[in-house]
Amino acid sequence: MQIQAAVAREVHGKLSVETVNLASPTADEVLVKLVATGVCHTDQAIIEQIMPLPLPLVLGHEGAGIVEEVGANVKGISVGDHVVLTFASCGHCHHCEDHHPSYCDHYAPLNFGTRRADGTPTITDSSGAPIGAAFFAQSSFATHALANQSNVVKVRKDAPLELLGPLGCGLSTGAGTIFNVAKPTPDSTIAIFGTGALGCAAIMAAKSLGVKRIVAVDRVASRLELARKLGASDTIDTSKQNLAEALAALGGLDFAMDTSGVPKLIEAAVAALKVRGTCAVLGASADSDLHLSVLPLISGRSIRGVTNGDCDPQELIPKLVDMYMAGTFPFDQLCAFYKLADINQAFADSHSGKTIKPIIRF
Ligand SMILES: [Zn+2]
Ligand SMILES: [Zn+2]
Repeated sequence: MQIQAAVAREVHGKLSVETVNLASPTADEVLVKLVATGVCHTDQAIIEQIMPLPLPLVLGHEGAGIVEEVGANVKGISVGDHVVLTFASCGHCHHCEDHHPSYCDHYAPLNFGTRRADGTPTITDSSGAPIGAAFFAQSSFATHALANQSNVVKVRKDAPLELLGPLGCGLSTGAGTIFNVAKPTPDSTIAIFGTGALGCAAIMAAKSLGVKRIVAVDRVASRLELARKLGASDTIDTSKQNLAEALAALGGLDFAMDTSGVPKLIEAAVAALKVRGTCAVLGASADSDLHLSVLPLISGRSIRGVTNGDCDPQELIPKLVDMYMAGTFPFDQLCAFYKLADINQAFADSHSGKTIKPIIRF
């Protein structure tokens, strides 16, 4: 079928909106008519080739839409279901069976393979040439997407579907890190480094657990203001305050979550941990070498990388939808809508910080 898709053709270049051909679903696939798709920093990282994947490629991995066709081998999903698309996992490796699908042994080929597992392309351009797709088993910067059993999550129909796509990646990553890794008590002191979508999701999740001391760290005053609105009790503005001193004044962190990937911030976070405290690392930057002292770590402090909030999306995404509907996860405050034709503006606004979470609405 013919669809409209935003194609990344050049490194650092703008996406071009094109009419392309989408293959018919196989017995293992689900065809989804997209209603909207979130824009995530991982999409930007591919365009800039910080994560080098071959171009041309249809990006997009926070899709939300309505099921149009279901392959014969797919169970529990029906035509007309409202779904959020997330990352794919194999379902049968050690990590999947252990309920940690974001560490699936086959995560890279399933999400970054740019083709089906059998090597066939799912999208071709108007001349018939293959375009990389199947990004996070969806490539949802398009009016339709092919997904599979593992990355299609059914959601309740009374929730605003056009808003829900970002629950598939950024928001479940931030919230999942709090629920599944930090597991704070109300008396924990936690600090969130970077108040973008991941950080704001973490703040809302921590607040929902009754955590009294939630510290937001950023260098943009307007973001810190929003962080306070969403539940941060304290803020540190690194453009004005000395970070190490401000952290020391808190009396030690039980948990720190870094979304920036900036080594200096991660090093400061680790240095501020209490004994048995943990620093979770979620983001990457171009400069990624850490300089850490071993001695403070020996007394039970740890640093831990986290993918997709270490969540089972089939559990976490419906839970976050319920929380949104109950008013305890008001992530709509982070979002702004754009047309597909304005997708490059959405990326620019995300980059400048004007919009925390752009959503392309079809
Ligand atoms: Zn697996
Ligand atoms: Zn993402």
